[in-house]
Amino acid sequence: MNVLNRKNRKSISKLLESISKPARIQILLAIGEDEACVCHLEAVLGYRQAYISQHLMSLREANILDTRRAGRFVFYRLSDIRILELIQEAGAIAGIPEKDLQPVNRIEKYSNCGCPSCQPLIQVEPMADQFELS
Ligand SMILES: [Zn+2]
Repeated sequence: MNVLNRKNRKSISKLLESISKPARIQILLAIGEDEACVCHLEAVLGYRQAYISQHLMSLREANILDTRRAGRFVFYRLSDIRILELIQEAGAIAGIPEKDLQPVNRIEKYSNCGCPSCQPLIQVEPMADQFELS
């Protein structure tokens, strides 16, 4: 039998610990295979933005989430898609129906969210000043 060394035990423990809070499980499941900004998660989940930001920061520090900045938006993405599978497997073991464990991120658009996914027209403003009229 292969006994885990202390370092490896700690790595696994730290990973599970960093995703183990109910709010973080919900946030990660909401992001799913896609990416989402804070305002979008706020619209999807109905949590306060400060509350979501706090968890996003912790998940980022634990290398569970990667970020991408685009203009005034910061998008969060799972650093490893197996994290989603891990949560879904844990949910299945806990007896939760598969349909309740699906990512909810991009299913619908939210009128109260200003992200490019919900308000795509924001991103395609005509660039009228590019053409010089002589
Ligand atoms: Zn949105």
